[in-house]
Amino acid sequence: MEKTLSIIKPDGVSKGLIGEVIRRFEKNGIKIAAMRMLWLTKKEAEGFYAVHKSKKFFESLTTFMSSGPIVVMVLEGENVIAKNRELMGATNYLEAKEGTIRKDFATDIEKNIVHGSDAPETAVSEIKYFFCDLDIV
Ligand code: ATP
Ligand code: MG
Repeated sequence: MEKTLSIIKPDGVSKGLIGEVIRRFEKNGIKIAAMRMLWLTKKEAEGFYAVHKSKKFFESLTTFMSSGPIVVMVLEGENVIAKNRELMGATNYLEAKEGTIRKDFATDIEKNIVHGSDAPETAVSEIKYFFCDLDIV
């Protein structure tokens, strides 16, 4: 079974969408294998998004990601990396397909409700950033 990291970003939490996002995962046969709420420091957000360090949106993105509580989850299922990204929709909510989380709830290319790992290697390293083996059921 494949695993991936999902984050409900500060805008998703403050809009009251924790239950809605989890409902969509469960309705689509995705299993929650670990889950935790936390509030990232700016440094922790910078560490998580280190791959985007050179991007012009890095400063704003990491300020946003440390602006309030987030929910981090390990999702498990067949093909779950791709499945999760399909449920999330395109990074830019204006390009996201109907019925996706970002199409339905995002208001901004940066404040786009959820994060999902984009490949098996990033899934492994992103899960490790938040969870130890014992946390994952
Ligand atoms: P995520 O990594 O959060 O799952 P993604 O893989 O769809 O989203 P990335 O290209 O990895 O998108 O960008 C990471 C995050 O950076 C985006 O989700 C968004 O919050 C922010 N971001 C990406 N592009 C831009 C941009 N052009 N302007 C502002 N913020 C952006
Ligand atoms: Mg990404």
